[in-house]
Amino acid sequence: MANAVYPPYPPTLTQAEQEYLLTNLKDWSITHGLAVRPTSSYVTEDLDPARALATTAPVTLFPSLFPRSCFDQARAVSQAYSELYSAIAADEEWLGEIVKELLEIDDFIENLWKVHLAVKKEGYAQSLQLGLFRSDYMVHVSDRNSDSRLSVKQVEFNTIASSFGGLSSQVASLHRYLHSVGAYPEVTSSLINDASLQCSGSVPQLASGLAKAHQAYVESDKPNRPVCVLFLVQDVERNVFDQRHLEYALNTDHGVRTFRLPFSRVLEDTSLDQDRKLLYTPPSFSGKQWEVSVVYFRAGYAPTEYTSQRAWDARLHIERSAVIKCPGILTHLAGSKKVQQVLATPQSPHLARFLPDKLAADKLLATFAPIYPLDESEAGLEARKLATDPQTAQKYVLKPQREGGGNNIYRSEIPGFLQSLPKTKWPAYILMEMIEPPTQGNAIFRNGEVQSGEVICELGVYGACLWRDKVENEVVKGREVLENFEAGYLLRTKGAGSSEGGVAAGFGSVDSCCLL
Ligand code: ADP
Ligand code: MG
Ligand code: MG
Repeated sequence: MANAVYPPYPPTLTQAEQEYLLTNLKDWSITHGLAVRPTSSYVTEDLDPARALATTAPVTLFPSLFPRSCFDQARAVSQAYSELYSAIAADEEWLGEIVKELLEIDDFIENLWKVHLAVKKEGYAQSLQLGLFRSDYMVHVSDRNSDSRLSVKQVEFNTIASSFGGLSSQVASLHRYLHSVGAYPEVTSSLINDASLQCSGSVPQLASGLAKAHQAYVESDKPNRPVCVLFLVQDVERNVFDQRHLEYALNTDHGVRTFRLPFSRVLEDTSLDQDRKLLYTPPSFSGKQWEVSVVYFRAGYAPTEYTSQRAWDARLHIERSAVIKCPGILTHLAGSKKVQQVLATPQSPHLARFLPDKLAADKLLATFAPIYPLDESEAGLEARKLATDPQTAQKYVLKPQREGGGNNIYRSEIPGFLQSLPKTKWPAYILMEMIEPPTQGNAIFRNGEVQSGEVICELGVYGACLWRDKVENEVVKGREVLENFEAGYLLRTKGAGSSEGGVAAGFGSVDSCCLL
């Protein structure tokens, strides 16, 4: 890697070679559940009224190149990040101070906090907590003339519904398969080979995280009826197969029964017994009941899912129960962008508070990109200047306290957006420097079409963490970590021109790493 970060890539294919690659890619994808439900613009509802069709997930034709040192760096900090965020989730007072700044200006955060307060008042029925996290990064080029110039910078840390763990194991296997059947021309063998292609253990590892929580529940609560794990899902979910991979792994490798419960049916299909154990009565089993060990949230993270009081009642119902939540409300809140900004404040004492191991803390610190508040603090006023000046705003992204993609405001759009917003609401956002990862060539297969061009990549590293809260005088104060392990990786790739990277939102694709 001399001056340009990546060598010329990918190889040019003849039409016959591309057809061979695509035939293999399409068949392998469907055979192995590297699939999504089609969008209604691709297959209209009248063509598929039963919602029975599936199509290949958007994937790259070639595994994207990724610097090995950056891949290793991101994996090396995975456990420390889980340590950090589990510690934050177990420090109710500290988290409460952060949330306080958002309460009056962000209804969604306020409502989540209210759910927490209601449960706190009643007393916690479960001290075990599960986090299936994903820390996302992009490659940052710090000095174009030096060789040690590449590192990863964190885009964000996800504590709820971290998706694509199912598909990412599959896409890494797909690329390996395409290599094995000679779909990649010989000339690329110095780049694409058995040593450079990286598997992702996300399916077995995330399933193992859920299984460990399930076992811990069974051991400590000793249920005397059948027990299951509930996947809490959205009513309409295109990314269902991603979730199914985890369910099937739980079923096959751990003998754990799983059910899918739409968020909208929580109050109909579940109830609490006198010990607040969560009982699930599936509509299709004529009254048979399961006790629930873990509720795994793949829904409930967006304000649009809470259109009525009933949805908030459902969230409270789960939070009060004795089930292990993945995540609990405090863990959900720990993942807000505001927390990330506070941690990234230069010379702040917060990181050391949660991660006393200085060596580990320094490694995390090296992955932080500059992030600023937009409040009336000195740093906040400085950031307001940067964000409202059309010239300087170019370097930034503005983020609300939201998850799931499609919520951010980028670069030149920031000044106008802020102008349209009362100043009192500005502190609900954080301002983050754009990471400018090096581009490379690749091609994406989406909705039956190949799009070739310059792309950029975002690496996610999953972490599974199980801990037991310590509660003193009704306040969560510290925890004992029972399990903490890295749980595979995800590479997402999008056109270099697009700001957002959401695969489900229609901008990106799933990919795997070809290390160099
Ligand atoms: P969400 O929680 O909605 O996924 P993110 O912080 O991950 O929010 O932002 C969504 C997308 O925006 C990311 O996947 C990435 O493509 C882009 N993005 C966010 N922050 C940055 C940044 N600092 N530099 C470059 N791109 C970013
Ligand atoms: Mg997120
Ligand atoms: Mg994201």
